Amino acid sequence: MVGMATRTPAEPPVEPKSTNGNSAVTRVEPAPTSSWGLGDGAAIPWEYAPAPESRDVVTVKERYGLFIGGKDVAASDGEIFSTVNPATEEKLADVARATAADMDKAVRAARSAFRRSWSTLTGKERAKYLFRIARILQERSREFAVLESMDSGKPIKESRDVDVPLAAAHFWYYAGWADKLEYAFPGRVAKPLGVAAQIIPWNFPLLMLAWKIAPALAAGNTVVLKPASTTPLSALLFADVCRQADLPPGVVNIVPGPGAIGMALVTHPDVDKVAFTGSTDIGRQIFKGVAGTDKGLTLELGGKAANIVFDDAPLDQAVEGIVNGIYFNQGEVCCAGSRLLAQESIVEPLVEKLKDRLATLRVGDPLDKNTDVGAINSRAQLEKITELVAAGRAEGAEMYQPACDLPERGYFFRPTLFTNVAQSHRIAREEIFGPVLSVLTFRTPEEAVEKANNTPYGLSAGIWTDKGSRILHMVKRMKAGVVWANTFNRFDPTSPFGGYKESGFGREGGMHGLHAYVRLEDR
Ligand code: NDP
Repeated sequence: MVGMATRTPAEPPVEPKSTNGNSAVTRVEPAPTSSWGLGDGAAIPWEYAPAPESRDVVTVKERYGLFIGGKDVAASDGEIFSTVNPATEEKLADVARATAADMDKAVRAARSAFRRSWSTLTGKERAKYLFRIARILQERSREFAVLESMDSGKPIKESRDVDVPLAAAHFWYYAGWADKLEYAFPGRVAKPLGVAAQIIPWNFPLLMLAWKIAPALAAGNTVVLKPASTTPLSALLFADVCRQADLPPGVVNIVPGPGAIGMALVTHPDVDKVAFTGSTDIGRQIFKGVAGTDKGLTLELGGKAANIVFDDAPLDQAVEGIVNGIYFNQGEVCCAGSRLLAQESIVEPLVEKLKDRLATLRVGDPLDKNTDVGAINSRAQLEKITELVAAGRAEGAEMYQPACDLPERGYFFRPTLFTNVAQSHRIAREEIFGPVLSVLTFRTPEEAVEKANNTPYGLSAGIWTDKGSRILHMVKRMKAGVVWANTFNRFDPTSPFGGYKESGFGREGGMHGLHAYVRLEDR
């Protein structure tokens, strides 16, 4: 349908209402009204009818406890915190707020489960549980998708078509490895590490849980996982899946709580392995927290990916990839293609096509099946995006936002594009983690490589060109853990993912992801 939409005749530019903390813009386009051409010059304007997904498939409890030793328990001091729907600013539920004593309890439960049950099972037995979890996730996929969208703000079509199916796929994939570790690491004996402490962020709550829990369990470890404070609900629903799958108590423990309590988990003396996804700042603190110990550590941190478009690239296809690269999940993606590097000869048509495409994006209710860009995860994140966008304008970059009405309530931000961006601008250097694209230009492949690598991060990149040889030439020179060619933001459980430089170290996914949860011994 989107491809059939036609633009209405140009109207004078309008300043959109300033809602949700979004400031006025330098240039706006009239809101697009799509129409069906009738062939005789007449056109009937049309709008998408609301298509809300039903909330009835999920029961949001008034209060959630911690999941420790297979039981739902209150925090040791009885404290709770609230989680909010970022699209409506309404409270969804109260959640027990773990203390350091609760972290200790959870680590003890995980240690006991490791000794008594999980490490004594054969790989084949462990696989049965993982297969069961994968199947239950698929059976309850609608429930997970709706809850995830309500708690995080991401559009239902993303949680339904990406997050939940990929989370299940990780359990299927690692279930397959559980009884084949000797083939994964030929000639070596793979032993589990013990208790894994896992801290995950709010941008892909269920998916990050799956990335971490599935390989850990497949390799024979037990887990204590701390979800982000703004998105604890899908992890707590996953606790229910563990019960349903009859997972032995204590193999998985879920302990929501404030960031500082995460450090109590990281530094707990009985933890053998730490896995963290989140900001580079907290990653550094965690690095310090495990320094001097023999704990294993993987850090998946921020990014400022370059999406490079050469003049021989199929531009329409590239536009879709650029949009997917930066506006998917509101740009709250560590590997988002937030810097577009366009070859000088095609920058003008490319930017025009991008602006046209941006005007067709629908921003609004995450539970509406037609929504492309949902709510920003929290007020704090919205403020951070707003501040960086203001810095972009103050530093002289030219901003474009399509005109679109934003909901009265909730944390929304218009898809934003900056041209006239210099490499020194904050919007070209800092991770914005929002729907904001900075367009830079280059003339030669060497200049593209230099600009792409001119960042402290090194998580991902994209290359758009007709020539396979050029892709290989570029990939060898790019300092990025993942380089997509003529596509962007593609994920598969068999494929490793991770970064260089300040984007962290270690890999998740594939056999590399399994490696991070085993100790290899000689036969
Ligand atoms: P954080 O790095 O603070 O949060 C990620 C996780 O770490 C959350 O579970 C958080 O808990 C926890 N945490 C926070 N402080 C500590 C601590 N001292 N010790 C141990 N764990 C801790 O990210 P933010 O939510 O603050 O986001 C800030 C910025 O980080 C974003 O704007 C974005 O640029 C970047 N980011 C990058 C992500 C990525 O995937 N690479 C993901 C999220 C953010 P709690 O939620 O309770 O604070």
